[in-house]
Amino acid sequence: MQYSLIPGHEEIKQRLRKSVAEKRIPHAQLFAGPDGCGHLPLAIAYAAHILCDNPSAEDSCGQCRQCKNISKLTYPDFRFSMPLAALKKRKPLSSEFTAEWRQAVLANPYLTLNDWYDFLGFDNKQGFISIDESADIIRAISLKPVEGKYRFVFIWMAEKLRTDAANRLLKSLEEPEGNNIFILLTSQPDALLTTILSRTQLIKIPPFTIHEIESALKNKFTLDDLACTRIALLSDGNLSEAYSLASKEEVKAETENNFLNWMRLCYTLWQPTKTGKDNFSKLTDWVDEFAGAGRENQKSFILSGMEFFRQCMMMNYAGAELVRYSDDIIPSFSKFSRFIHQNNIEEFEKQLNDAFYHIERNANPRILFLNLSLNVNRLLHTPA
Ligand SMILES: [Zn+2]
Repeated sequence: MQYSLIPGHEEIKQRLRKSVAEKRIPHAQLFAGPDGCGHLPLAIAYAAHILCDNPSAEDSCGQCRQCKNISKLTYPDFRFSMPLAALKKRKPLSSEFTAEWRQAVLANPYLTLNDWYDFLGFDNKQGFISIDESADIIRAISLKPVEGKYRFVFIWMAEKLRTDAANRLLKSLEEPEGNNIFILLTSQPDALLTTILSRTQLIKIPPFTIHEIESALKNKFTLDDLACTRIALLSDGNLSEAYSLASKEEVKAETENNFLNWMRLCYTLWQPTKTGKDNFSKLTDWVDEFAGAGRENQKSFILSGMEFFRQCMMMNYAGAELVRYSDDIIPSFSKFSRFIHQNNIEEFEKQLNDAFYHIERNANPRILFLNLSLNVNRLLHTPA
């Protein structure tokens, strides 16, 4: 992985190059930025620049033995920790998932936590980094690096470190030991323990700009300019999301459209249909199906819904030019947006927040989504 393969982020790359040029490499750093911002490829490109046998001032060479091993993620002094779900009464170690990790990252270095869980088939499980993993890291760093230079310990999605796991690492983060460099990565810096934040040097990575995403898409896909712009707008700076949207044959905002369909179903809940029955049985079918969709999918759906409502409010009160959605991507979006207004937005947000909170805490999804749907029905009929 070289800097040249990562779109944009010039300021960050300059800052990292400077630290290499001045040989001032902090031993514990935190690369923090939103999903799909590229913190992992940046961290790997940074390590490659440090370890390369023939680096230029700008970048690693991409050709030497070190670079080749790094590009395949087989460099012996790279150690990756990532969130995993518990296996039958046992906490798995990241080292048991090296092959899967390589495959997932090489396919998409911008992957998000959801992408990783999907890749592993951890559908309904919440991943975490356990104290056993911390112990394993501590064991690993007590040994000398194989190549004799630096060992890099990457802790990907460090917000998933359990408190005991994080505490176990504090000493190693605080006092440099041998040639070990810790690079923690997070998409949710607010969820990190302050003890971790205070012991790491922060590199804040912004989301990709629309222009950066457009050019990355043009390099990788055969899409017309309009499609690239549309996806860039929809993906909100998340390159992983942009890649996934672009690789679908038809570029449609799937989750947003599903969300809108659910809103319609809730709105028409008690209205008579052609068959003389109401839509309630349709809703219970939807609830049954969605209850089995997995907790991570349910959380994503709720998060998309929050964004959906924000976009509706923008449409109503700030003007269509500021809105990320359009009727080509989400048919009837502008018509629907009128149902979200100052008299119900607060309650809508509260309902979604509560739902998110309860999903995370293992609430029964059937009861939760049925109850939420009934509340949505009531709120959608609130006069503007
Ligand atoms: Zn090299």
